[in-house]
Amino acid sequence: MIPEPVTPETLEDGARPTPWSVAIDDRCTACGACLSTCPEHALLPAPRRPVVVAERCSGCGECVEICPRGAITDVWTR
Ligand code: SF4
Ligand code: SF4
Repeated sequence: MIPEPVTPETLEDGARPTPWSVAIDDRCTACGACLSTCPEHALLPAPRRPVVVAERCSGCGECVEICPRGAITDVWTR
């Protein structure tokens, strides 16, 4: 089932939008801390920085919180 598009105006207080994903920028040091944090296994190890599997991301924000470099940011996927 394809989810309905979500806009900031349609969100309830505190709700995280879906579809949702994260981006990892060049502040990443490949420490790996975010990999085991993701409950959806949406972050996969890679040599330079983790790869984000956007289709798996639930938008929980756990990885954004745990990254010691502030390298992960929330992004809209559609
Ligand atoms: S926690 Fe941050 S610095 Fe560490 S691998 Fe993940 S994105 Fe990179
Ligand atoms: S926001 Fe949550 S589901 Fe998405 S990549 Fe980060 S930890 Fe995983």
